[in-house]
Amino acid sequence: MLIEPAAGALLVRAPAKVNVFLEVLGKRADGYHEIATLMVAVSLYDTVEVKEAPAGEVRLSSDDPVLPVGADNLVHRAAALLQARTQCGRGAHMHLYKRIPMAAGLAGGSSDAAAALVGLNQVWQIGLSTAQLAGVGAELGSDVPFFFSTPAAWCTGRGEHVEPLMPARPLWFVLACPSAGLSTARVYERVRVPAKPLSGEAVRIALRTGGPTALSGQLHNRLQEPALELCPDIRALLERLKATRPLCYLMTGSGSAAFALCKDRHDALRVARLLRHGAKEDSRLRVFVVSSCP
Ligand code: ATP
Repeated sequence: MLIEPAAGALLVRAPAKVNVFLEVLGKRADGYHEIATLMVAVSLYDTVEVKEAPAGEVRLSSDDPVLPVGADNLVHRAAALLQARTQCGRGAHMHLYKRIPMAAGLAGGSSDAAAALVGLNQVWQIGLSTAQLAGVGAELGSDVPFFFSTPAAWCTGRGEHVEPLMPARPLWFVLACPSAGLSTARVYERVRVPAKPLSGEAVRIALRTGGPTALSGQLHNRLQEPALELCPDIRALLERLKATRPLCYLMTGSGSAAFALCKDRHDALRVARLLRHGAKEDSRLRVFVVSSCP
């Protein structure tokens, strides 16, 4: 996670993620699903600005007028949890520059929470290790620990057990984000646990040792079917992606965003151009060319 000092503040960049593989292994007694997923952090960032403030005063603002910035915001929850776990009574003013589309399966909220933990740990001089911060993050959400192990990781359990992986080569994607988001809980309610889950071994080998072509044959997302049932617009989006002839395309996480995996940057720019051109009538579709984070 990239940290930059700025006049009297710290700026922490919070990347989005895509799931290039997601399998559902079973339903647990606590209501969560056991999953196995390969996540890759990508170069679309929110930024969390953190400034020291008088003791006890924790405030959040955002440039996104739609995003609630009250106690439920994951940045606020991260600050409150860090204070509770470390008995730190210091204050902070935080500002969230929101760029990652919400409820899209890109885990923007989780990444913001991880960035807030990193920034506050530094500004409040708490001195927690990365592993300790990831432990606090796991209490906030299943995707939060991943952001302490970028650029890529194999994540199991609810997603909170993280085994870091390094892609053999930079990967280029085009993200396509429809205006309507999807609730993760509703998608999981509809998912059917497969009798024989895919192991994901081949996708890990492809990421570690091969390039995008090797990876493209291994993409999988078990949540895509239930998401399509809830939101038929995603099917049209996947058709549009297919028409641009990328290496491969898939919905990310629990949707509603989808991505195309491309051969290289040049190919990604081509795919994005075609997608934007084909989507002229739908100005609400947001298209981003991104690469895997360094
Ligand atoms: P998830 O699977 O965690 O829902 P997602 O990528 O689909 O992930 P996010 O944009 O991360 O979706 O967050 C989903 C919901 O969490 C939002 O609809 C919003 O109400 C709430 N939320 C809380 N804090 C934030 C935040 N900082 N940024 C975005 N959403 C947030």
